Amino acid sequence: RTAVVWFRRDLRLHDLPTSAAAAAAGDQALALFVLDDALLRPSGAARTAFLYRCLRALDADLGGRLLVLRGDPVAVLPQVVEQVGADSVHISADYAPYGAARDAAVAERVPLVRTGSPYAVAPGRIRKADGTPYRVFTPFSRAWHEHGWRSPARTAADTVAWLDPTDFPGRVEIPDDPALDAELPPAGERAALAAWRQYRDEGLAEYPALRDRPDRDATSRLSPYLKFGCLHPRTLLAEAAAGSVFVTELAWREFYADVLFHRPETARHNYITRFDRMGYATGPEADELFAAWCAGRTGYPIVDAGMRQLLAEGWMHNRVRMITASFLTKDLHLPWWWGARHFLRYLVDGDLASNQHGWQWVAGTGTDASPFVRVFNPLTQGEKFDPAGDYVRRWVPELRGVAGKAVHRVGAAPPVGYPPPIVDHAIERRVALDRYEQIRDR
Ligand code: FAD
Repeated sequence: RTAVVWFRRDLRLHDLPTSAAAAAAGDQALALFVLDDALLRPSGAARTAFLYRCLRALDADLGGRLLVLRGDPVAVLPQVVEQVGADSVHISADYAPYGAARDAAVAERVPLVRTGSPYAVAPGRIRKADGTPYRVFTPFSRAWHEHGWRSPARTAADTVAWLDPTDFPGRVEIPDDPALDAELPPAGERAALAAWRQYRDEGLAEYPALRDRPDRDATSRLSPYLKFGCLHPRTLLAEAAAGSVFVTELAWREFYADVLFHRPETARHNYITRFDRMGYATGPEADELFAAWCAGRTGYPIVDAGMRQLLAEGWMHNRVRMITASFLTKDLHLPWWWGARHFLRYLVDGDLASNQHGWQWVAGTGTDASPFVRVFNPLTQGEKFDPAGDYVRRWVPELRGVAGKAVHRVGAAPPVGYPPPIVDHAIERRVALDRYEQIRDR
């Protein structure tokens, strides 16, 4: 009997419940990945390159036995099943809007078996006593901890005998990387596990104290690996202290996936619908402000440093994601979804649930207690979280001649090549609060 293991956001071989399920269902399995243009098109070069590298690593770990096809999975999967005479197709379930709809369509055509998901607890499972979903993080996190999760699945490359796909019709090579400016971390499961082990042993103890410090680079940087499933959060949860700050951060990822599962329209629309009435800057001036923000040329050093880190590394520190997002929505008065789209294009870890809801949290339109009226001051945020100015000087070369924390306040007479502030924060803060007054429930 033959099974198919269809890889998507689970590009690994250890702790892979789908391969255990395939081994139970058949004597041999075909390892399949489908390049789907609907998903590749909106992805920027950095995330696409990282995906291809992860696929190459997976193929190597499979001894060259990964079959890569191109097309719409709804058409491709039935052909594959017929070609190899498969009795079952094994997937890790997808809960995001596109993937869930695609899988439902595939399931009408082939015997699709879902085992596990990219989360420790599947979206939709944690509910209040009355059966409704949580709308606030802290009670969700508590219930999620109480619910608990399985131990890592004991699987490896030889859990099932992989079919040799060499002569498979339509087989394509893993494409070459697109042209790329960003420097990316090493891809694949081995790199992910090595990064985790090193962080667990050398960085985790300092995480609570340093995680908000972009100058210290003290977070795990595992998000690209979690995005593509080069490792599963179960692996981390089995080795990190229960209830620790790090585990609670993983709970945010699970919470946002849960929120998007229940409210798929919030990928595009305000979670709090009252914000649909909010006014935004428009016209050529808005486009110019947006372009300056994207390029890291706003004249606000911490904002510009973050936006340039995004372009250079396909990643941005969480604190700076919050500062740059606040600046776009409350200093430039632009819609959060403009910024979210830019992030999704450039982030290697770009993930619909975490990104759209991270943005909505900052914009005040989303879940949780982050009211719109809490406006970040980019100058004091910079001084507080990058106290010696090292982060800014790393990413903004024009400011390297400015010593210490003075680099956060170069103001109206900046060093040559660096722009003066494109807006005045004190004024824009009041404009933002006025915009909010217009839509506030009275
Ligand atoms: P660590 O601090 O080491 O945390 C470990 C893991 O916990 C992360 O890898 C991530 O999986 C999870 N995590 C931590 N914080 C959050 C959070 N606030 N929300 C959700 N998960 C979290 N994260 C993404 O994975 N993809 C995105 O597209 C994304 N977009 C964001 C956009 C905005 C505006 C904001 C404010 C946050 C966004 N985040 C996103 C969340 C967070 O910034 C990143 O997960 C984190 O910076 C990744 O770095 P790390 O792996 O070193 O994190």
